[in-house]
Amino acid sequence: MISPADVMVVVLMGGLGTRLKEFTKECPKSLVEVCGKPFFDYQLDLLTAWGFKKFVFLIGYKADMIEDYYGNGSDRGISIQYSYDGEKLLGTGGAVRRALDLLEDDFLLLYGDSFMDIDYAQTLYRYQKGKASGARALMTVLRNNNRFDKSNVVMNGNDLILYDKKNPTAEMEYIDYGVCMYERSLFEGFSKDEAFDIADIQHDLSVKGQMTAQIVTKRFYEIGSPASLAEFTQYAKHRFCESHPAVFVDRDGVINSIVWNDDTEQLDSPMKVEQFEFLPGALEAIRTFKEKGYYVFVITNQPGAAKGKTDLATLYDINTYMIDSLSQKGADIDDLFMCPHYPKELPQTKEKFLIRECDCRKPKPGLIYRAMRKYNIDLSKSFMIGDSCTDIIAGNTVGIPTIFIGDLKCDLCKKLGDIMPTFIAKDLTDASNNV
Ligand SMILES: [Mg+2]
Repeated sequence: MISPADVMVVVLMGGLGTRLKEFTKECPKSLVEVCGKPFFDYQLDLLTAWGFKKFVFLIGYKADMIEDYYGNGSDRGISIQYSYDGEKLLGTGGAVRRALDLLEDDFLLLYGDSFMDIDYAQTLYRYQKGKASGARALMTVLRNNNRFDKSNVVMNGNDLILYDKKNPTAEMEYIDYGVCMYERSLFEGFSKDEAFDIADIQHDLSVKGQMTAQIVTKRFYEIGSPASLAEFTQYAKHRFCESHPAVFVDRDGVINSIVWNDDTEQLDSPMKVEQFEFLPGALEAIRTFKEKGYYVFVITNQPGAAKGKTDLATLYDINTYMIDSLSQKGADIDDLFMCPHYPKELPQTKEKFLIRECDCRKPKPGLIYRAMRKYNIDLSKSFMIGDSCTDIIAGNTVGIPTIFIGDLKCDLCKKLGDIMPTFIAKDLTDASNNV
């Protein structure tokens, strides 16, 4: 499996920022200051936390300021190369084509004026999986229903059927999110000074069935206009400058039921989207946490793919289904952190890259630490909530109070030793009423 450290990230930063002119007279859009630091720093911090190390910035307007500020990236432990837009405006496609000599065979492309907090490991996994069945690019898409802009993507389940930004139709429920992956060869057929829009390549690939997709669930932010800049500033202030408490919630047996698995003949986590059933009251409990000012983070071990019971794509699909269903009912989960690993290969294991001694499988606290690095969490008022001893041990290791869901049976007590949950709740509703 390709890892972020191996993948080049190309960032379109050349825009003039005309709608933001009162802010961009003195500096390029990516460097507009938000809560004390340049806008693009927020996105770059996200990407470096995922492990990306190789960047190419496509710069034009006030290029020298971007180069002076970011340099070669060495002070951040990354490498940054630059490609310069010329006098002639070449569009997004032309800007990428101009950088062709710097590009590797496959690359991630995003915009320097957008904040896109998605699961980038999933992006790489889905791109690689898509390529194995003939795709040459990946598009991230968000269920939109004309919320942010005109929807422009037709999806059928996880399959991208059509992308067309010029001819919107009623079937288009999704919008392109702004993070894509491409084969370099897609840009080789254009001449160096040809102006073109990447949307034309995207449309063409969608019609040929060569565009794979990743459905994302979290909204994007961009700073194209004073109103959207104000919106991101408010978001950044809440997330990065202020500190808020969190509930770290286990998934199976807390939010959704454990189900009977015919293949393994045991009670197990859902291994298909159709098997996912919300527990009564889970939705309302998540709303209650949010109303009380908590972040809600799902912290879940999902070794099903590593054990060969399903594949990683399906595990991602199940999470997407859960987050999307909750969000449509006004119960927004702020983030989900999943450990898909298992330490031991089994005879039926297919996705062998999932077999490893990781630091994220509960009872280890790696997922909670990952959440802490991403958000400014007030740990003194936060809780870990779960229905197994691994949840209680993980919370205890981090030093936060724990809520055990269910009946604490003797066999569990034995596993817990001296570590006892702070509180025992009947279910998530009970927990939400007692934090
Ligand atoms: Mg559980």
